Amino acid sequence: MKILIKKGRLIDPLQGLDMIGDLLIEEGKILGFERNIEISEKMEIIFAENLWVLPGLIDIHVHLRDPGEEWKEDISSGTLAALYGGVLRLACMPNTKPPNDSPEITAYIIKKAKEKGWIKVLPVACITKNQEGRELTEFGRLKLSGAVALSDDGRWVQNSEVMKRALRYAKNFDLPIISHCEDHTLTEGGQVNEGKMSAKLGLKEIPASAEVIAVIRDIQLAKDTQHPVHLAHLSTKEVLPFLRWAKEEGIPFTAETCPHYFTLTEEEVEDYNTLAKVNPPLRTREDVEAIKLALKEGLIEVISSDHAPHSELEKNVEFELASFGIIGLQTLLPLSLELVREGILSPLKLAEYLILNPSRVLKIEPPSFKKGAPAEVILVSPEEKYLLTEEIIKSKSKNTPFLNKELKGRVKKVILDNQIYDLS
Ligand SMILES: [Zn+2]
Ligand SMILES: [Zn+2]
Repeated sequence: MKILIKKGRLIDPLQGLDMIGDLLIEEGKILGFERNIEISEKMEIIFAENLWVLPGLIDIHVHLRDPGEEWKEDISSGTLAALYGGVLRLACMPNTKPPNDSPEITAYIIKKAKEKGWIKVLPVACITKNQEGRELTEFGRLKLSGAVALSDDGRWVQNSEVMKRALRYAKNFDLPIISHCEDHTLTEGGQVNEGKMSAKLGLKEIPASAEVIAVIRDIQLAKDTQHPVHLAHLSTKEVLPFLRWAKEEGIPFTAETCPHYFTLTEEEVEDYNTLAKVNPPLRTREDVEAIKLALKEGLIEVISSDHAPHSELEKNVEFELASFGIIGLQTLLPLSLELVREGILSPLKLAEYLILNPSRVLKIEPPSFKKGAPAEVILVSPEEKYLLTEEIIKSKSKNTPFLNKELKGRVKKVILDNQIYDLS
């Protein structure tokens, strides 16, 4: 079957492409793009006026909760939410139950994703056994079984000697290391951002310095070992001078943030709203503005969702008992489009942050519109408004502060594995 997408805005960050034109697909592969491709018989035509046509997004930071907490999410529901969000490949974090610290669990994830998943799943395995921060996992065997990166996400590798050894060892296997930047000695029992809101609500604080200290140490170790560290979910303006310095020094690192850190402030947790309880916590207006500028400057160049599903059981409880986390696979793109509307990023730059740069961190071939590339294509209506209702959310969990709020920007169709999905 041939599929012809007519008159869409074709955006492909790998080729630096942003033009109105036609894209032709045959048997699951890109055949080419032109300003105008003649329609012929035996073509399925998709009219894409006013739509953006992009390679599928790559979400580098997702919690699928499978194995072990399938009431919150599983590989099937999580990847369906991804499909609806335009995410056609995702990296899943290893803090499952049990944690993914063995080739067996990595293999289980890959197998289940093939059988029950809607999109491609790239497992991230643990840096240390049981995420205890002491003994390294077997990086070589994990890579062989299909792990694309290593992380103890949810925990920071607090012991610097262990982290240094991990970076050295990972370098041998060319495996990226993703760091959950949080000095736990400063955040034990913490609930919300340190400052006005922690004082007002009488809740234990999570200081920005916990993130700063983690970032500084990890950058220094990346410098020592000359192996890149990927700094996950950065949230505070306090880390930015250090990122700037590390860039100038040529230290190998990449940095990521999530839409909630450039769209929401700590005011969301007023009234003890557990849907906005997340780690790192939502910060101040100044932090939000600074993160946006860091994206503009290119200090932070990856946007991930940190999709963290929790059920009513974990969220509909007292604030201090509630779990940390926000789902994000279906809000990743609409919220990130705000950056384009505000003139922070061009559409092409945003596509870089959501597609190309994540692929570079994971050292995988990015999807593109190059001839012969596998057709992983999404069609997006960037200005479409809709309410994010429970029905729209494909995730098993509905924990998001954007629930029943208006979003702008919607994925209309996906073309993947030689299939066309009509999503809305
Ligand atoms: Zn984390
Ligand atoms: Zn996470």
